Formats: sequence, structure tokens, C-alpha cells
Amino acid sequence: MTNQSNQTGWNFDNSYSRLPEPFFSKLNPIPVQDPKMVIFNDALATSLGLHGQELQQEEGINVLAGNQVPEGATPLAQAYGGHQFGHFNMLGDGRAILLGEQLTPQGERLDIQLKGPGRTPYSRGGDGRAGLGPMLREYIISEAMHALGIPTTRSLAVVTTGEPVYRETVQEGAILTRVASSHIRVGTFQYAAAWGSKEELTALADYTIKRHYPNVYEDDNRYVSFLKEVIKRQAALITKWQLVGFIHGVMNTDNMTISGETIDYGPCAFMDTYDPGTVFSSIDRQGRYAYGNQPPIGGWNLSRFAETLLPLLHEDEEKAVEIAQDAISIYPELFKSNWLDGMRAKLGLFTKEKEDESLIETLLELMQKHRADFTNTFRGLTLENLQDNPLSENPKFEQWYELWKTRRTRQQQSKEESVQLMKNTNPAIIPRNHRVEEALAAAEDDGNLSVMGKLLGVLSNPYDYEENESTYCTMPDPLGKAYKTFCGT
Ligand code: AMP
Ligand code: MG
Repeated sequence: MTNQSNQTGWNFDNSYSRLPEPFFSKLNPIPVQDPKMVIFNDALATSLGLHGQELQQEEGINVLAGNQVPEGATPLAQAYGGHQFGHFNMLGDGRAILLGEQLTPQGERLDIQLKGPGRTPYSRGGDGRAGLGPMLREYIISEAMHALGIPTTRSLAVVTTGEPVYRETVQEGAILTRVASSHIRVGTFQYAAAWGSKEELTALADYTIKRHYPNVYEDDNRYVSFLKEVIKRQAALITKWQLVGFIHGVMNTDNMTISGETIDYGPCAFMDTYDPGTVFSSIDRQGRYAYGNQPPIGGWNLSRFAETLLPLLHEDEEKAVEIAQDAISIYPELFKSNWLDGMRAKLGLFTKEKEDESLIETLLELMQKHRADFTNTFRGLTLENLQDNPLSENPKFEQWYELWKTRRTRQQQSKEESVQLMKNTNPAIIPRNHRVEEALAAAEDDGNLSVMGKLLGVLSNPYDYEENESTYCTMPDPLGKAYKTFCGT
């Protein structure tokens, strides 16, 4: 095993396993019958200091399937709680095992987690396993998000297990290897606050601050600074989602990281026609996690996070609540100003004017009214070609267009610079739902991975206007409107 580890490049140091015991349960993944590599992320492997070729040999695959524990790993399932659709529950890694933290050649510390490795003490009624389709889906979307420049967990590999999993249908079992800054969630803090001692909560907070926010560790009240920093990172993250039309689908507090990375790609999807009410998830019947609700839900989740820190913010409970409220109160403004900056960039604007907000809002209203595609409208504005857009030749839109054109001249930057800014901020390509489904169907039904390979290639350069094929920009046929994503992953 030593040789194998050296050859594959694993270099673990498992700081999470040194936290107080209630935060995890140590256990090994449950071996599977017949592991096979389906997809492997060579570039990511290299950046992690791993040797892709060796990892794709039998022993390497055995590690990614959970059949063999690599040297230096301390496999464990993490404990956490969380508000699911507003209701608080004890959760935990029911179908995930953290192998450990890989120390990379660049000096980063990154979690290596197997998703779908079998039952754990937190599995409740579940089988601890995952299906091939959903794991490939997470692979595609997380890698697309990374290429879009949005903080996210990454995907190193998907292997099949040779065992079936039973959902609505029988699926091929699979395991995803997920890479993350950490898997510490708002729900991890909720777990500590609900069931742990103050010492345990302090240990978790100090650990998380050192790992993700070391610059505030020496602050007078590091916990207040920590809270404010987490709020900032989440405001920045959710802004980025909004600017590309990404809908997470299950923004439960256990699916919100403290590091500020997007995590847990379940029933997520990208919006086609612009509508703030867009929901894809079949289980989100109330639209709690609709596109337009993501910013306020982010604030709600951060309030739950702030509550967990109360005992650390001040000895006096009333004062602690005041401090928490103060910190949280900046979130809506912070989001708004990030969002305005981002929307200005999408319109090629470098400077700020008071009327920009109404310029932006008017465009969005027109897009909603005429069912314009979110991505393609901004792409069309960038290329100054809205030929196939429902807004073209609309008199109200033409009026808006003139206003925008004039507004663009009221800045020092040249037209070319403005167009470049738009190209850098408006993706030409997003993972369109029908394209993702097409790739998954080919992989699942026919074992054909070439459709997914091609899609991943295109998605790796989303801002490349020259290279991208317009076939990947087309909207689905009208049936696409009924697109639903399922949580039974
Ligand atoms: P998720 O919807 O993926 O965020 O999962 C919510 C909770 O359900 C987490 O505690 C998961 O670990 C758990 N869970 C989801 N699927 C399974 C499964 N197949 N077996 C066991 N636990 C699961
Ligand atoms: Mg989750």
C-alpha cells in the first residue's frame, strides 16, 4: 500500500479528525463488487499533486471506489444538522466519507470525499449509495461552475460500483470523488450549537477560522470578524449565481458552506427564459428556492449561522444578539451592491451612475415579459446581434437599447474595452438542461461517454466567444419548459 500511495501522490494530513469526537464518526467505505472508472479529471488531479495515470490503474480505482484506503487517510463521516425547507433536523454524511485532506504542491489543504460509499451512522433510512446519472450530473455542473469562475467544490472522478441502486428506477451505482476547501457547513455549526458544549463550539469555530479565515484569527473578537467574513463570502457567491442564472435548488443550511463554495449539486439547473419565479426542483413546491428567492434565502441561512455563534459573540446574550443583528443587517445591501456591480459589467459599464439600477431593471422586466433567454440576451447584447431574440424589434426594447448605447458613451473606456468586459462577464455557453440530459442519457443508456466529453470540453471555456459552437447556445424546444430536476439522487 505504501508504494501505491507514493506512486499515486496521496499526501494526507487530516486536521478535521483532530476535532472533538462528536464532530465525526471514523469508518471505512464499504467495498463494492466491480469498480470501473467512468470519468477522471486529469487537470484537477495534477493540480492536487496526484498522478493521473497511476490513479486510473486498478489500485487507484480501488481507492476511488472505497475498496482500498490509501496510506495517510483517516476515513470519517461528518456530523451536522440543518434546516431542510425550514425544518431543523439532525443530518450528517449519510452517503459520504471524507478520506482526508490532500496537501497540494501549491500548499493548499483540500478535502477528498467519496460520495456514495455506503451506509454510515448518519444514513438513517438511506442506502448510502448514489446513482451514476446524478454523480455525472454533479461532475458536469460543478466543473462548469468552476470554469465560469464561481467558487465551487470540484469533481475528480466518477467510478461505477458494479452494484445496482434502487430509486424510482434501478440505476447503476456510482461514487463521485469530490474535492472541496472543506465540507464545513452552516449545518456543522448548527449541530455544535444544538448538541455540543461551548468548548466544542469554540473548537469548531477556531478550527474553521484558522482554515478559512486566518487573517481574522488575531482580531479582538475573532468570532464577530468571522461572522462578517462568512456573510461577505456568501453574498459574493450568491451574486455570482444570480449573474449567470444558476439555481441551486436546495439551499438548505446543510448545503451552505462556510468557505463560500457552492456545494451539493442535486436538483440544480440553469435558468433559460428569465423569470425570477423559476424553480426546477420537483420537491420545491412552494418555490422556496426559486431563482429570485436565492438572495433572501441566503440571508435567512446566514441568520441561522449567526445564531449558532451567539455564545461566542458576547457574554451578555442581549449584546450578542445585537452584534449578530448588526452583522446580518449588512447582507442585503452588500448583495445589492455586488449585484449592481455585476450587472453593470454584464452591460459593459465601468462607471457607476444612479440611474443604472433602473436601466438594469427595465431590461429584466422586458426579458421577463417577452420570455427572453437570460444567457442568450446578454450574449446577444455583447455581440450586438439579437436576431433570434424575442426582444428584437420590440419598440420598448429599442428605446431601452438607445438609452443603454448613450449610457455606454458616458464613460472614458472605449467601446472595445466595454465589449471585452461584456465578453468576460456574459458566458457564451452554460450547461443547458437539455444538453446535460442528452449527455447523461448517452452515458447511462448506451455507455457512450463521448457526448459528455464534448460537452465538458465546451463548458471548460464558457467565455470564449470565438471558439464556441452555437449549437450549444440554443434553447430547448418548448417541452424544455417542463424541465424538472429530482432530489432522489
Ligand atoms: P442532500 O439532499 O444530498 O443534501 O442530503 C440530505 C441528507 O440526506 C444528508 O444528510 C445526506 O447524507 C442524506 N442522504 C441523501 N441521500 C442518501 C442516501 N442514499 N443514503 C443515506 N443518506 C442519504
Ligand atoms: Mg447535502
